[in-house]
Amino acid sequence: MSNFLEKYRKWVYVFIIILICLNFFAWQEVFYLYQLENLKVEFFSVGQGDSAFIITPQNHQILIDGGPDSTVVNKIAKQMPFWDRSLDLVILSHPEKDHMQGLMEILKRYKIEYIVWSGVKKYTPEYLEWLKILVKQKNNKAKIITAQVGQEIKAGSLMIDILNPKENLFGKEIKEVNDTSVVAKLIYGKNSFLFVGDIGFNIEKQLIMDSRHCEEFAVNDAIQCVSLNSDVLKVAHHGSKYSTSEEFLQAVLPNIAVIEVGKNSYGHPTPEAISRLQNIGAQILRTDQLGDIVFISDGQNLFLSK
Ligand SMILES: [Zn+2]
Repeated sequence: MSNFLEKYRKWVYVFIIILICLNFFAWQEVFYLYQLENLKVEFFSVGQGDSAFIITPQNHQILIDGGPDSTVVNKIAKQMPFWDRSLDLVILSHPEKDHMQGLMEILKRYKIEYIVWSGVKKYTPEYLEWLKILVKQKNNKAKIITAQVGQEIKAGSLMIDILNPKENLFGKEIKEVNDTSVVAKLIYGKNSFLFVGDIGFNIEKQLIMDSRHCEEFAVNDAIQCVSLNSDVLKVAHHGSKYSTSEEFLQAVLPNIAVIEVGKNSYGHPTPEAISRLQNIGAQILRTDQLGDIVFISDGQNLFLSK
């Protein structure tokens, strides 16, 4: 027996070291899982445009819009392990460059499981490129979904309710593309985020009416209505004066308003939108002033991480 040990001593040591390593990795995994009890919502600073990255407690990775250029590629790379080349869900609010260009750069590099967008038609070079990229993603087994009010996406314990567009807009040409923006409410426990793309007053009004109608109807039929009331509002259209009405803010009652904005010639964010947000008492956070803005939620409380 001692001869046996002598002969294989080296291998016994190697075996013990492997066991120690395995134990270390096992613990690493335990800590990793522990951290994932939280939801992380990060608003990327991508200049004049929108992009937000969400990691759910079950480690689903979701990207809403991608900003006006490839800035988002490095930001995503920093958030994900290098071997992970796929995202679970991307949502394109509407097919305009300041939301779409960076998203296309991501779609060229990552395999996507679900792609949700409004489906509206637009004759711009970037739109035609978007269509080509969609075909490639579809060939790669991506499920492409036309967004419409009433849809609900479950990503583990995170719920995403689609509140706009009101009808299926696939293949339709719409003059006011901003108003076709996919509006999505993210709900995790008691915390919620409202993403409204670039919608203007008209759609804000429609959202309020839909929400009221639902509540009247629900009294009889016990339908679950999605309230507009949210902790965090992604302010519409980079703080345009034609969005973020007083009436809409009264319905959303956000504690925090995030304005995704960069250098621009439109005067965004406008003093009008800022003053309406201040009047409602919302804390205003701007990506041009703060850089990336990160929220962590444990389902009960919302923390600003930075
Ligand atoms: Zn925009």
